[in-house]
Amino acid sequence: MSTALLEVQDLCKGFPVREGILLRARAYNQAVDHVSITVEAGETLGLVGESGCGKSTLARCIAKLYQPDSGQIIFEGQNILKLNRRQTLAYRRSVQMIFQDPMESLNSRHSVEEILTEPFIIHNIGNHKTRREEVRKLLDIVGLPASACSHYPFEFSGGQRQRIGIARALSLKPKLIVCDEAVSALDVSIQSQILNLLLDLQREFNLSYLFIAHDLAVVKHISDRVAVMYLGQIVESAKSDEIYRNPLHPYTQSLIDSIPVPDPSHKRSGEILRGEVPSAINPPDGCRFHTRCPMVFDRCSHQSPPMHNRDNHSAACHLLENPNR
Ligand code: SF4
Repeated sequence: MSTALLEVQDLCKGFPVREGILLRARAYNQAVDHVSITVEAGETLGLVGESGCGKSTLARCIAKLYQPDSGQIIFEGQNILKLNRRQTLAYRRSVQMIFQDPMESLNSRHSVEEILTEPFIIHNIGNHKTRREEVRKLLDIVGLPASACSHYPFEFSGGQRQRIGIARALSLKPKLIVCDEAVSALDVSIQSQILNLLLDLQREFNLSYLFIAHDLAVVKHISDRVAVMYLGQIVESAKSDEIYRNPLHPYTQSLIDSIPVPDPSHKRSGEILRGEVPSAINPPDGCRFHTRCPMVFDRCSHQSPPMHNRDNHSAACHLLENPNR
């Protein structure tokens, strides 16, 4: 039996694409397609891939904001898709989310004090006095002064607003935080401050993170393990050091090669990723990456590659079966 804090098994989630006056479903967007991942207690799993690859849909399924079509989400040994109301409330305390745009996720008409008090009210925790104390403690933890309480989200910088978002996520003492592009909208110097804050909080509170980003450089800084997602599917996963040292899937190799290097004499080892991610409404047959893959060969366009696993490093590519083709 698995000892993982979170185990996602064979998860699928799609959305009907509706058109016309009667809004009939004309097609189906399979955003998450048979995805399996695990997150251990105290660990950070980085989930990386381009926009539109299904990362955020997966995050929202885990946070119980979307109901998956099939598969399982096991948290601390319990299938969260079968929880009753009381168990769901307890789950929502244990799993929190930090969103990309705190301006959208924080209610702009509420003061910071109201925003940070709300989770205690919803979950009926403490009284007026203890909630006031907790809010000030949370602000101190994320490096904001108590005077922030009387201010509104628009009065803060992007980095400060994200600190408020982190304080809110911490309020119910969660075990897992899903960070959905949590630093993507921030300047590089502010990004590293927020990443360092997340690392400090992880050490202090033994938190686990599912850290989602489209930028492999950001994920590298914080992750113990990395999973790479393409068009609704996981195509590679391994320990963080291993995946950067020895990427097996051509998509991961392209992503790593596109990380900017501050050295004008640096020569890229591989090809730059070209073109757009195809639509998940009508994904390519065979290997989904074959329309953009620099290593594509005959079999790739009609046969889907199985996942190959060696020493906890998995990748789905035909080349791993027969490197000489
Ligand atoms: Fe490229 Fe073929 Fe491997 Fe897919 S299976 S990543 S198209 S080489």
